[in-house]
Amino acid sequence: MNDALSIARDLIRCPSVTPADAGALGVLQNILKAAGFEVHRVTFSEPGTADIDNLYARIGTEAPHISFAGHTDVVPAGDEAAWKHRAFAGDVKDGFLYGRGAVDMKGGIACSVAAVLDYLAAIGGKPKGSISFLITGDEEDVAVNGTVKLLKWAAARAEKFDHCVVGEPSNVEMMGDCIKIGRRGSQSGTLYVDGVQGHVAYPHRASNPVPDISRLIVALSDEPLDHGSAQFQASNLEFTSVDVGNPASNVIPGQARARFNIRFNDLHNQETLKALVEERLAKACGNRIRARVVWEPSNANVFVTKPGAFTDLAVAAIEEVTGRKPELSTSGGTSDARFIASYCQVIEFGLVGQTMHQVDERTPVSDLEKLTKIYRGMLDRYFA
Ligand SMILES: [Zn+2]
Repeated sequence: MNDALSIARDLIRCPSVTPADAGALGVLQNILKAAGFEVHRVTFSEPGTADIDNLYARIGTEAPHISFAGHTDVVPAGDEAAWKHRAFAGDVKDGFLYGRGAVDMKGGIACSVAAVLDYLAAIGGKPKGSISFLITGDEEDVAVNGTVKLLKWAAARAEKFDHCVVGEPSNVEMMGDCIKIGRRGSQSGTLYVDGVQGHVAYPHRASNPVPDISRLIVALSDEPLDHGSAQFQASNLEFTSVDVGNPASNVIPGQARARFNIRFNDLHNQETLKALVEERLAKACGNRIRARVVWEPSNANVFVTKPGAFTDLAVAAIEEVTGRKPELSTSGGTSDARFIASYCQVIEFGLVGQTMHQVDERTPVSDLEKLTKIYRGMLDRYFA
């Protein structure tokens, strides 16, 4: 049977802790092949990282093209003795499906596959446009041999995507409460302040970077980067550590450094953001303090799918099944959707995230049914 519950159980029974696949993609490959999809398995490698298996499957050759994206890898079970139901058994008890990946995100993938099969059966085989699955085994760990490379591989084959639904657990408390339509960007850096090392008894011969870095931290933290935009909360710069690496109490240190991370909205991009921070730093330093920022590489740019026809059809499908009008949110951390956003409009909607990465990760079986119906409703509207 290819209902969402049985697909989800088959997937959970593959212990696909990154980078292992453990047969998870094979489960999807068999089902999709039988339904008439052209299925590709592609392995990506990079020195220093494990080879990772990925899957791309498509049915139809025309536009419009909607893709369901996700990952079959999961985080480790953690303390297995603490689980009431074994992490990779796929137990169903009292209306709940238990197991690592139940909500993040084998459950979501299972619902999208079940919905697509149901849709294809209802219309007699082939969609008016195209439906595809972009599934990676490399999201939970370093994520270098996954979605980024799979998208490049697809682009090289002249695959063109119009819209994408990522089945990450977007709902906060109940089905239908939240669609993610974007994510803030993330940029980290380290602030260095140079002083002159010396003896604490002779401070006039030294220059202490500690009070100076404190002043700079306050200056950079106090002035807001912006006040939010139509779809986003205000950007935020947060210092996460301050360090002088000085074990001696009678030495004025020669250098101080502080690490920080910025979560930024669509009023910035990485370049304008860096310029803004450096300008404020220069102002705070004046002619006296010697400081600089070293930026870390970041592939997490901000993105947003502006509310419109695509988000409207998702909202309508969600409302029909749950009776709830979901919030269109841009909160939270980063996800693979940021990579997909360079190719097409993307939203994230899946199960309820409450137990993700926890012991006894679980989802109500009724939520699997609801999510399958919601995806089905999206497909009906998409190809209408
Ligand atoms: Zn996930």
